[in-house]
Amino acid sequence: MNPKVSQNNVPRNVIILATIVTVVFGMFRLVLFLILVWVAALAFIIVYQYNSTRTGKGNFVCLDCATIHQNPSCPKCGSRLKKIYSQSDRYGI
Ligand SMILES: [Zn+2]
Repeated sequence: MNPKVSQNNVPRNVIILATIVTVVFGMFRLVLFLILVWVAALAFIIVYQYNSTRTGKGNFVCLDCATIHQNPSCPKCGSRLKKIYSQSDRYGI
């Protein structure tokens, strides 16, 4: 399993799942359950994306020593050369 692919697919999978549940509940006219399912699905996606942006130790990757940090300059080597760190762009570290 490629962690990059699975991570990017989670919100989409939740939407697909909620759509399937919508069709099933729609056949039984369970509108209240439909609303609850969509509220839960959207809340899950919001929490998931909030967590995935916070699981990194910092917002930048030092281009000189690859330290992940949040400072304008690298706390380890003092370099100001950095790129924005993101969960889906791990290569190069
Ligand atoms: Zn550095």
